[in-house]
This record gives sequence, C-alpha cells and structure tokens, in this order.
Amino acid sequence: MCGIVGYVGPRQSEAILIAGLARLEYRGYDSAGIAVIDDGGHLGMRKKAGKLNALRDDLKAHALPDGTTGIGHTRWATHGGPTDANAHPHLADDDRLAVIHNGIVENYASLKGDLISKGYAFRSETDTEVAAVLLGREYRANGGDLVEAFRTTVNRLEGAFTLLAVHQDHPGLVVGARRNSPLVIGIGEGENFLASDVAAFVEHTRSALAIGQDEIVAITPSGVEVTDFAGNAVEVEPFEVTWDATAAEKGGWPSFMAKEVSEEPEAVANTLRGRIRDGAVAIPELDGLDELFRDISRIVVIAAGTAAYAGMVGKYALEQWARVPVDVDLAHEFHYRDPVIGPDTLVVSISQSGETMDTLMAVKYARERGAKTLSICNTQGATIPRESDAIVYTHAGPEVAVASTKAFVAQITALYLLALHIASVRGTLSATEIAQQVLELEALPAKIQHILDTDQSRIEQFAHWMADTRSVLFLGRHVGYPIALEGALKLKEISYIHAEGFAAGELKHGPIALIEPGQPVFVIVPSPRESALLHSKVVSNIREIHARGARVIAVAEEGDAAVLPISDEVLHIPLAGPLFGPVLGVVPLHIFAMGLATSKGLDVDQPRNLAKSVTVE
Ligand code: GLU
Repeated sequence: MCGIVGYVGPRQSEAILIAGLARLEYRGYDSAGIAVIDDGGHLGMRKKAGKLNALRDDLKAHALPDGTTGIGHTRWATHGGPTDANAHPHLADDDRLAVIHNGIVENYASLKGDLISKGYAFRSETDTEVAAVLLGREYRANGGDLVEAFRTTVNRLEGAFTLLAVHQDHPGLVVGARRNSPLVIGIGEGENFLASDVAAFVEHTRSALAIGQDEIVAITPSGVEVTDFAGNAVEVEPFEVTWDATAAEKGGWPSFMAKEVSEEPEAVANTLRGRIRDGAVAIPELDGLDELFRDISRIVVIAAGTAAYAGMVGKYALEQWARVPVDVDLAHEFHYRDPVIGPDTLVVSISQSGETMDTLMAVKYARERGAKTLSICNTQGATIPRESDAIVYTHAGPEVAVASTKAFVAQITALYLLALHIASVRGTLSATEIAQQVLELEALPAKIQHILDTDQSRIEQFAHWMADTRSVLFLGRHVGYPIALEGALKLKEISYIHAEGFAAGELKHGPIALIEPGQPVFVIVPSPRESALLHSKVVSNIREIHARGARVIAVAEEGDAAVLPISDEVLHIPLAGPLFGPVLGVVPLHIFAMGLATSKGLDVDQPRNLAKSVTVE
C-alpha cells in the first residue's frame, strides 16, 4: 500500500517528488526511493530503507543529477523485508529502466522462475522486481516502445498493482498502469503528475483525472494518453480537488493526529453541509435512488478496522430508524465466506481512502452476486466509489495520520444521514421524528468542540499519568460497544499498549476474569435521561468491576451523579440523544490514546508496522 508519485515538466523533479512522497508517507514508511532521468539522458536512482528522512539524508550525501522526469516511492513491504535492496525503484534493462509498484504481483514466483531460467538475475526479494525485469525484456523485444512493453507486461501480471516506469531513452515520459491499486493524474501547465493520491500534487494543481481499472497512462509535459490493457483509447473522467494543499499540512500542530482530532467538529459539520433542508435530510448524490432503497430487504455493511466500528455504530441507527435488518461484516471475512446476498441486499462499504483492498474486493464480489452497492468514502476519485452504484462522500478533508479519527466521526455522520434518508423513503419515521434526529446531528459539531475546549488538556494530563499502564480495557453497551472497540483499537495502534474492548453485558461471561486491583477500565456510560434502562445496566457493570478493584474511568454525561461514587475518574460529555452520546464519547478516547502515546514519546502519526491506506489484501 505504498505511495507513488511521478512527474514530467520543466521543473527539477527531485524536490517535487520528495515533497509528494512526504504527503504520501502515511501510505507506508518502510523505505523510500526516487529515480530521475537527467538532462543528459541518464537514469539516476537513490533508495533507502527507513522513513523519508533517511532518503533525504542519503540524497545530501549522494546528489542525483538534475532532471525533469522522475518517479518516487514510499514502501509498505509485502514481499521481502524493509531493506535498501528491496526498496523501490527497481532497475532493469541494464539499469536504464526504473519501476515502482504498489500492490502484490501474485504470480511473481512462477514469472521469476521463468526469467531466472532464461538467465536473468535478481537483486531483491520483491515481487516488483519481477515486473521490472519483465518490462525490460519486453522493451528490448519490441525495439524500444515503452508503452507497448507496459501493455504486454501488465497482461502477464496477476494480482493488484499500480506500476510506474521511466526509461532513460525516453526523457519527458512517465508510463503507469493500474489494476486494483490507486492512481490519479494531475494536470498542470506544461507539466503533469501521477500519484496514488491527489495529496501528492495538490500544491501544484487541483485539476485531476481519475484512471479506471486495467488502464495504462502515458504522461508527457504537454499531454496525457490513457488506453486500456488491450490498447483501446479510453475517456477519462476529470475532477477538481476541493481542498487545497494547506489542508494536508500540519499548520503548527505537533502532529497530524492532533490536527485531525481538532478537526472532528468540522469533519461532522462538513459531512452534514448541503444535506439538510428544512429539518429533512436531502442527500443530492442519492437523488433518483428511492426505488433501490424501497426494494432492499437487508443491508450488509462491510469495512475493516476503525471504519468497521463506524459501521457497527451505523447499524443501530439503520435498524432503529429505517427498520432494515443490518449485518456488519469485516470485508476480508465477508468476501471469502460465501455470504447470502442478492439483488435485495444493499452492501454499504466504508473506507476513508476508498482504496482499502479488502473492502474493494468485497464490493466487487457483492456486485458480481447482484447486490446493490453504496460507498461511504472520504476521497474523491477513489476506486471503491467508482465501483459502487451510489456514493455518500464524507467531507472530513485529507486525513494523514495513520490512525483514523476525524474520518471515523464523519463516517458515523454519513451513516446517520443515510439511515434518516432511508427512513424517510420507506416511511419508517415521521417528518417530526426525522427533524428531531436532524437537530441532534446538527448539534454534534458544537458538542465535540465543547469537549475539546473544556477537557482536552485534563484528559492529556490524565493520559500522561497513565503512561506506564500495560493494559487498558474498554466497556460499552448499545452504540457504546463499538465506541469501546474503537477506543481500544486507537490505543493499540498508537501506544502499543494491550487494549481490548468488550460489550459490557459480556463481562460476566468471561472478560471479568481479567479484572484485578488497579486494572484501568474505561466505561462508556449511556445517558441516564435518554436511556434509563441501559444506564442502570451499565452502572451495575461498573459496580461489578469496581468491587473487584478496577480503576474505573467513566465517560459519562455531564451531571450523571450515579457514576461518581463508583468511578475513579469521570470524563464528561455533553447531553445528547441515545444514539449520539456515545459518538461524543469517542472524542475523549481519541484524545486519551493520543496523549498517552505522546507521553511515551511515540510517533503518533506513523505507528510501527501500520500504513494508512491498506491497498494490499
Ligand atoms: N509488493 C511490493 C513490495 O513488497 C510493493 C508493496 C507496496 O505496495 O508498497 O515491495
């Protein structure tokens, strides 16, 4: 799930490539490398294991010659360890050709065996080098047509890939291809870009073109040509990037995560924007789809990681408001299980990047089985929305920190909007009932802001005191349950502390055995006003663990007196309706995870072993 960038134009490519990689580093940081064709028609290449800074240092010591054509890569290793040798670019054709790759070439072993038997040698353990060597061979065989050599090569590859290549015989040309991995084109003035994500070139241009599946693109300073794998010309879809480069910059915050948590109110507000009219939900993207929503008899939400927890939150709203049965499935489990789906199923996928490979595969599978598909996604031009029948974009803005925060609250917002939309189409809620929920939705941004303004520093201080903790548990009921799961995941991801989330009712069926004196347990407490029964059940759960010496940290509504005597710490959330309170509860959990990881001196933006957009299965 690496980051890829390519440039052709009048300017020196090295600085543009490095800046582009810096914006893509969230996609992988096992190694980085660039290849540049210099003005004398020679290919220069440097690559280094480790984060982008290692490559920056290397380039200071071993400067590349000037060149206005180049490609750059930041890696998330799948085949071969994170070493210099396995870093991209990989060279072929006597080091005159450089190739970078995102994805997995599934048939690389047989191709490699075949190439070795023909006398080719390999310098890395990667699947990518096989594609590079094959491309070099095809290029030689066809007398030097890089685009044609690309076509024959990609037709022999199986799996998922975005590939970019430059050849020293062709200064001013970058060729790319994509199958199941992301690639977008940036259109500049006398210069053009290719990248995994528009973030890599948005400081230079906001005009972009989305490339479809199984397409090949050749960019020169003055033109872009897109063809399919068979060689037919293809029409490409232009789009404008709606945010500017500063949105993807830290802007004075200590980390992207800190910036993105601070943007949670805005992420919700922007996702609501233009979708509420006179107390009703009006989602322009869903115009004309009423029949689809009327005809379905069930919904399956598919996602992975944090997005799957957003999906679990959405299930409560979809079932309660729209009265449609909902299953939430992990995309990677759904796809390989032979699930029961058909034309009456709406498969709702959730992916911040819109490129999550597990989710993409599940969406394709669902479509093949005749299901309708709707994508909730934060990235324009991404693959999953393009593969879906309908889209509801979250407008959270670019999320760079690997651990998702603002996208999570935006995904829940989009799911709630969708639930109200379906409820209105199916007539399961009255206009008045919808208007009540809309008011709750509209109040969310200010309430999240209130938590940030009044409690952030106290929660950070509290996290600091807990920096030596070795295990943290999270409990919740109803919507609070997926929030507990999200609280635990966030802590694991960025602080490397063991953390687990449980349904509070499940406690006595096993997990309570983990409680020993001093064990920290966060409990998401439902509103005593709005959900008296649930509240009393959770209070009982707190008593059970309190009696066994747990250190209870209650995330409870302001004024909830019942939790005070049985909690060691209370993190307050503003008053809100039953489906909304726990959503507010995630904000202190995000702040806590970030505060604790920061106290441990960890890099909260780029946690070990992870990458943001998981574009490999
Ligand atoms: N499979 C390739 C490798 O391991 C590319 C991985 C990536 O997408 O970063 O090098």
